[in-house]
Amino acid sequence: MKKSFDAVVIGAGVFGAWTAHRLQQRGLRVALVEAYGPAHSRASSGGESRIIRMGYGGDEIYTRWSQRSLEGWQELFARVGRPELFQRTGVLWMARANDPYTLATLATLRATGVRFEELPRTELDARYPQINFGDVQWALYEPDSGALLARRAVQTVVEDFVRQGGALLHEAIVPPTGDGALSEVLTHSGARIAADKFVFACGPWLPKLFPDLLAGRIHPTRQEVFFFGIPPGNAGFASPQMPTWIDFGAEFYGLPDLEQRGFKLALDRHGAAIDPDEAERTVTPAILAEVRAFLARRFPALANAPVIETRVCQYENTSNGDFLLDRHPAFGNVWLAGGGSGHGFKHGPALGEYLTARILDGGEVETRFTLATKESARKRAVF
Ligand SMILES: Cc1cc2nc3c(=O)[nH]c(=O)nc-3n(C[C@H](O)[C@H](O)[C@H](O)COP(=O)(O)OP(=O)(O)OC[C@H]3O[C@@H](n4cnc5c(N)ncnc54)[C@H](O)[C@@H]3O)c2cc1C
Repeated sequence: MKKSFDAVVIGAGVFGAWTAHRLQQRGLRVALVEAYGPAHSRASSGGESRIIRMGYGGDEIYTRWSQRSLEGWQELFARVGRPELFQRTGVLWMARANDPYTLATLATLRATGVRFEELPRTELDARYPQINFGDVQWALYEPDSGALLARRAVQTVVEDFVRQGGALLHEAIVPPTGDGALSEVLTHSGARIAADKFVFACGPWLPKLFPDLLAGRIHPTRQEVFFFGIPPGNAGFASPQMPTWIDFGAEFYGLPDLEQRGFKLALDRHGAAIDPDEAERTVTPAILAEVRAFLARRFPALANAPVIETRVCQYENTSNGDFLLDRHPAFGNVWLAGGGSGHGFKHGPALGEYLTARILDGGEVETRFTLATKESARKRAVF
């Protein structure tokens, strides 16, 4: 059996879903092919929630993409009647004195017209008595940012794509071989899917599909996420009293109790290497102990809070954290989209739009997104 399309996107995580959606909006007949189902539990996009913030240090391109993406997400959610998939909790950036990353963020937010407040320590202590700020001396607060309900947000993008005539195929694609122009891909079930253009948006699976090209350039790491139960009758750990917060100085971030699922806390530090198909997704006692110690210090009322849920997900890190959005060097009509690292989710709408424009309208890919800039040595620079 052979099916034919203008474009085939492989992978229905956030990158593939938005790319398929944007290609479709330009009038193409598009198939979205997914091995396990959109935003499944092993995908990087499969979590309950993801932060959308505008701050990116001095990396203005990502600030602009976040601005554009927040509009894109909200436009979609409003159109399909699901505004709750964006939770405007605000995002609080905790900083030490002269913290270069937060100072650079401040300058970029000013230059790009993002609304923010600068909060001195006295103001932080008054506004958030449930937080023990320790050595944090000041903070930036983005009132218009917050959290995306990630898994359901991706599924909503895919539902909208299907409603508008897109094909969602539950198939696993066999890695393509050869070179030149690719005319079709094969599935593990023996089907053939033909198209003029192909996008492999396979996240942490990219090194498995293209080992010669990408093993050593995309490093999936194991990331553990904890949800703690808040004390009964205590509204201090839910929005609006508790914002989403980031403390890169301490390598932690967290989200308030969204939809009564618990107070989310995670280490942003890269974990051990992980195989996204085979990994057992249970958390490790050493990381739980580290997370608990931080929780007790920063949020004293939660010192004895029980763990009520855990997740193990993976970042798919490039050498420095910049995305990979480029042509496959051996196939003129094949594009690679991945390397979301620990921060890609929020950018789905802008990324889909950018990639669609490069595929259909041409133009050079931004240097920082090219394959050539993806080194094997890991030097994290984009957070
Ligand atoms: C714990 C954690 C916290 C994070 N926090 C944030 C955050 O707060 N904010 C933020 O913006 N980002 C965050 N990120 C990063 C973000 O989630 C990822 O960058 C993003 O989800 C990557 O999406 P993707 O579409 O590239 O990959 P995925 O979601 O993994 O999608 C790839 C898809 O390709 C499919 N696939 C693979 N191989 C094949 C094949 N052969 N045939 C068919 N289908 C195939 C897979 O099944 C999968 O569904 C976080 C990530 C993690 C793990």
